[in-house]
Amino acid sequence: MIFETISNSGHEQVVFCQSRDAGLKAIIAIHNTVLGPALGGLRMWPYKNEAEALNDVLRLSRGMTFKNAVAGLNLGGGKAVIIGDPARDKSEALFRAFGRFVNSLNGRYITAEDVGIDVNDMEYVFRDTEFVTGVHQVHGGSGDPSPFTAYGTLQGLMAALSHKFGNEDVGKYTYAVQGAGHVGSEFIKLLREQGAKVFVTDINKESVQRCVDELGCEAVGTEEIYDVDADVYSPCALGGTVNEQTLPRLKCKIICGAANNQLATDEIGDAVQKRGLLYAPDYAVNAGGVMNVSLEIDGYNRERAMRMMRTIYYNVGRIFQISDRDGIPTYKAADRMAEERINAVGKIKLPTMGNDGTRFLGRMRGQ
Ligand code: NAD
Repeated sequence: MIFETISNSGHEQVVFCQSRDAGLKAIIAIHNTVLGPALGGLRMWPYKNEAEALNDVLRLSRGMTFKNAVAGLNLGGGKAVIIGDPARDKSEALFRAFGRFVNSLNGRYITAEDVGIDVNDMEYVFRDTEFVTGVHQVHGGSGDPSPFTAYGTLQGLMAALSHKFGNEDVGKYTYAVQGAGHVGSEFIKLLREQGAKVFVTDINKESVQRCVDELGCEAVGTEEIYDVDADVYSPCALGGTVNEQTLPRLKCKIICGAANNQLATDEIGDAVQKRGLLYAPDYAVNAGGVMNVSLEIDGYNRERAMRMMRTIYYNVGRIFQISDRDGIPTYKAADRMAEERINAVGKIKLPTMGNDGTRFLGRMRGQ
């Protein structure tokens, strides 16, 4: 049953990790290491049962293969989950036990932060394995990825403006931004620096007020955001906000934002395309975070990070080309771009980085 599930989803390896003493129950899923070691975050969540945890880690690790491939990284896709309540079940022993399991994979899987995990948890993981990103900056960590994600989102936006309007002058257009959190507020700053008109909403009224007072945005209600007459709808809060209820209301020409899983279903992705809206695929647009942590592997450098974010412009542009070339919606074109890269690179041997984490070890040992 498990082998059939893993085989159907195309996974290479799934590791069940248990430490009774530390109270650890974790699953590490390595989906694909053709491009390099599998990089993906660790999530801690009070899953109802083991099947739910397994499904989640299989789904998320597969997503990382596509995300890392489209981002142009020499990294495969993986993910890990710890079954537990982040508010109650965290301990040094738990994360160190997890770190030992990561270490036992000898670099095939590199872990990072995800939902329920913070930099202090990663510090414990780091005590028992070098194969970890998202540690404190004093250890070569890259710090808060949100400004990079926002800057990457701007690059994706420019590719979309260029494709849709033949003009990527950000300041000429109007935006409906949903969510003024870590990424959203930084993204709004970038839009306003270029003189764009920005409508903003957030369930947190203080965040909205800050955008109005400090950045000159216009506030709208959380439901009203779907009816705003703006050129671009930019989801920067939750997933699934492009759905059967909201799509008919959207007046925009472009959907481009940082949120994960913006399309409620694949069918909605098809409907978006049919309505003539240009959807800039979320995982290509918001790759700034993973790009940023990937640089920790070689030794983090802010300048390199900013340069890397700018490649999102070309990645998103390439997705639009594939969509036009093959007559498929952009969300499918993103997956196709990933598959084409994995297939092409899989046929050659990477000279600089195997999936054994060799270069990674070099960095962590300060060579
Ligand atoms: P965040 O929690 O800082 O911000 C999310 C904001 O959305 C909050 O201000 C919250 O109040 C608001 N919000 C929640 N529900 C809302 C609703 N119904 N309507 C309006 N606003 C609502 O999170 P973040 O780090 O800014 O991430 C935003 C999105 O981008 C998430 O989907 C995240 O997965 C994705 N993302 C973030 C990064 C990163 O670098 N932080 C990287 C890739 C993807």
